[in-house]
Amino acid sequence: MFQSQLIFVVGCFFALLAAPLRADELLVRDGRYIHLTTDIASAEEAASLVASFDAAVPQWIRFWNLDTDSIADFKVKACVIRNKAEFNQRGLIPATVPNFPFGYAMGNQVWVLAQQSEYYTRHLLLHEGVHSLAYHLFNGAGPTWFQEGSAELLATHHGVGAAIKINRIPQTREDAPYWGRFKRMGQATKSGEVPTINAVLGYQPDLTGDVATYSWSWAACMLLSSYPEYRSVFVNASQRGKETGPAFNRELQAALSKQWPILAARWRLACHDLNYGFDWSREQVQLSATDPLWDGSDLKLQVRPDQGWQSCGVRIPRGAKISLTAEGEITLANQPKPWTSQPPGITFQYHRGRPLGQLQFCLLPNANDPQAKRIESLEVHAVKDRPVFNVTEYSWLLFRVNDEYGKLDDNRGSYQVSIKRAR
Ligand SMILES: [Zn+2]
Repeated sequence: MFQSQLIFVVGCFFALLAAPLRADELLVRDGRYIHLTTDIASAEEAASLVASFDAAVPQWIRFWNLDTDSIADFKVKACVIRNKAEFNQRGLIPATVPNFPFGYAMGNQVWVLAQQSEYYTRHLLLHEGVHSLAYHLFNGAGPTWFQEGSAELLATHHGVGAAIKINRIPQTREDAPYWGRFKRMGQATKSGEVPTINAVLGYQPDLTGDVATYSWSWAACMLLSSYPEYRSVFVNASQRGKETGPAFNRELQAALSKQWPILAARWRLACHDLNYGFDWSREQVQLSATDPLWDGSDLKLQVRPDQGWQSCGVRIPRGAKISLTAEGEITLANQPKPWTSQPPGITFQYHRGRPLGQLQFCLLPNANDPQAKRIESLEVHAVKDRPVFNVTEYSWLLFRVNDEYGKLDDNRGSYQVSIKRAR
């Protein structure tokens, strides 16, 4: 959450100075970019929060393509709070701060409620710190999706202290206890409530700290910052942070207008797959608006197990009837030993309820409805189960090998897929 009115900033600053700190009850730690006051019990955790924050700030600056001069006088006054009533009583949370469920930022001050895991507390401190930095650098953080999504993007991390690396999706659930973003996204997927990218861009300001709003905003910011062809538009948009109305989105969408249908299709795929270990460098899907329409001639495709969805390079017209065959062998070098697989997969090792190593396909529609609020979930099939099928709308035909997202890097080999017109 974020409050950017200067008048409040000045007010709170004096409020903090006016409240004498009792060293026996509160820990106070001073870093390069953060002055931390906290009632968490562990002095070690407090020191680690400061070290993590100080290591994250220069990485945020690099992400926004700015130099360190821009943060020469940037410093956040942070409260990490267990007993909120106590902080209120001491005047450490001014009355102008609304009731917040997780954290709040106002100018150069942030307040964060300590969570049940160190990861999540650190995440929230970084999240609020990003808001504070956006105010410092850009006089604001843009509309809700950009404000919350970029804060989530730059708060999500691997490692801790000086070794922290920002903008990394946790590898496993155990790496990020109580953080819960993928759990919430999974619930939305199950109940058919995954928003379109346009719906995310239209999010209204929300002070309830809704995890779903934050998660989809984060996903949109990941998509826009991970594909090289969108990245500079996304990074440059931060400069318009003061703009929180529709003009912000209009300008961003105008700069990407030709690419928007592809972006919306990629959004649909990403929403289907995003989870622990998801690696954007392996999950970029090669799609183009100029992909030719399939003329019905035989196609051959090598499907690699170390990449996400792979297109056969053409758009399949409505009414086409397709026959698929596949052969080949791949190695999934998972612990405790490498597994060899053929297109049907390894039937005693599963991911998402399906055999590991299984060759899968999906039809991704070319068209998207810019007015739609929800996306329809993607139907993924095993090539073995659906060797012949009808295409009911203009679509890309995509393939991938079923494996855990964080374990693609050491996969080897390929499957050879043959795509023919069925009779
Ligand atoms: Zn926020």
